Amino acid sequence: MPARRAAATAALLALLSLPTAAQPTAQPPTSPADAPDAAPLIELPLALHLAEDVPDAEVEGWLRAVNALYADAGVRFTLAERHALPEAHRTLRNNRARHRLKRFLRPRRIDIFVVDAIHDPWPSAATRRAAARVGREPSGRLGGAHILAPGHRPDRYAIVLRRALPLALAHELGHVLGAPHHRDPRNVMSYGADRCCFDDAQRAQFRRRARALHRRRDVR
Ligand SMILES: [Zn+2]
Repeated sequence: MPARRAAATAALLALLSLPTAAQPTAQPPTSPADAPDAAPLIELPLALHLAEDVPDAEVEGWLRAVNALYADAGVRFTLAERHALPEAHRTLRNNRARHRLKRFLRPRRIDIFVVDAIHDPWPSAATRRAAARVGREPSGRLGGAHILAPGHRPDRYAIVLRRALPLALAHELGHVLGAPHHRDPRNVMSYGADRCCFDDAQRAQFRRRARALHRRRDVR
């Protein structure tokens, strides 16, 4: 019966279009008008390095989700530059491979490298502690990492696993803005499964750091 089949097809299409848990939460874009107070948002420019075939819409979705988390801090990340990351640099086998990304750093941008794998054969003490707080052992793989780059402005950059976006990006940007790991498993700066939020002290710190990055001309 064609009519019944059409109805079944419509029902299936409706099911397929339901959002799944793996998708980034749909968040409205933040704008100065959405900020809780009248203070203007401090914009921080990102240079994204990733595979050419990642659709712009996917990138915009990551930024929307990250900016929703940072809106209450009065900080907004903007996509200032996008660069193709060579395939040889998208699977990072060890700490040295993470440091080799320095050759791609862009002046006065917060560089973010989106990769397919970050192996972590020798987990750091900070990684062990953060995993232990949520009852886990380090898995030997990372969802993200931030790397110090003395002499570069700004002096650190971040690497995130594409599969772990957008939350891994929010977490690593927190490190870039000076936040350590957090004990609350719901905090974005933990390794908890249901991370959702920053606390007031973190938000104040992010705003101070964002302002300092501009004052020191570490970003433009
Ligand atoms: Zn971390």
